[in-house]
Amino acid sequence: MRQKMVAGNWKMNGTSNGVRDLISGIKAGLDGQSSEVIVCPPFVYLPIVAAEIANSAITLSAQNMCDQDVGAYTGEISGPMLKDIGCEYVILAHSERRAMYGETDEVAASKYAAALKNNLKPIFCIGETLEEREQNITEDVIARQIDAVINTSGVASLANAVLAYEPVWAIGTGKTATPEQAQGVHAFIRNKIAGLDAGIAESLRILYGGSMNPTNAADLIAQPDIDGGLIGGASLKAEDFLAIVNAAG
Ligand code: PEP
Repeated sequence: MRQKMVAGNWKMNGTSNGVRDLISGIKAGLDGQSSEVIVCPPFVYLPIVAAEIANSAITLSAQNMCDQDVGAYTGEISGPMLKDIGCEYVILAHSERRAMYGETDEVAASKYAAALKNNLKPIFCIGETLEEREQNITEDVIARQIDAVINTSGVASLANAVLAYEPVWAIGTGKTATPEQAQGVHAFIRNKIAGLDAGIAESLRILYGGSMNPTNAADLIAQPDIDGGLIGGASLKAEDFLAIVNAAG
């Protein structure tokens, strides 16, 4: 039985007071839920949030990291630094990183390997653009993105990772994949991995991301291969985020 997971990607939002308010609202509203609850603040607010969530059921994730551990990489943040301040997870290869910061499959694979080496669990994002969906190449794109990490780190590495299927056309657009569309891609992902290792495929958590909100969350998360959500916009309001956590059970 896979534990459901709900992760809030705060992206580049917040102030020190704002993140304190948000995390205390989330903490106050949690009430013995069985899902794993993760928050992903901007780098500079990680220490504030780490202190606020100490002794709570909330887990900390970063939104990105460098593939190098130390040295002359101006402006970068390394895996050992994230570990040092209490991160357990790190989002990698988010479509905004791929589209706006030129992160290729090779870069994504290198960061994935660096995260695992530093005992950080990647929340590894994959997903097709609208153009790719219209060309009917969604599965090819997803397969290529997954193969990039399997070819470098091996299928067994997925035992310590989470995948997030995030159709690019659904991120921040208010357009959600239907539960059937999302389930179709999640099943494709799980079957593909099962072809290499059935045990890993069965235990792997695959999140859906893309305009998930309190209204659509329950139907999406009820799908057999959807194990929770990676939430952007709706994670910035404690009430909405908690409603999604409740929908996950
Ligand atoms: C995301 O950025 O990972 C995301 C899913 O954003 P949103 O929920 O705003 O579509």
